[in-house]
Amino acid sequence: MSKPSNAEPRRPSKGDLPTKTCPVCERPFSWREKWERDWEQVRYCSEACRRASKRTAPAE
Ligand SMILES: [Zn+2]
Repeated sequence: MSKPSNAEPRRPSKGDLPTKTCPVCERPFSWREKWERDWEQVRYCSEACRRASKRTAPAE
């Protein structure tokens, strides 16, 4: 039997998801699969908050 090698070290195991706090709504949110590639750059819990942050804090 050949088992497919699931060598995906980047994928956190369930129950061990990293979390961040959204600076806009100040709520904690956790890792999602869609952020798998750029989790380090994710700052807001949602697109809405991301846009809201641009509204409130004018970009330089
Ligand atoms: Zn938010």
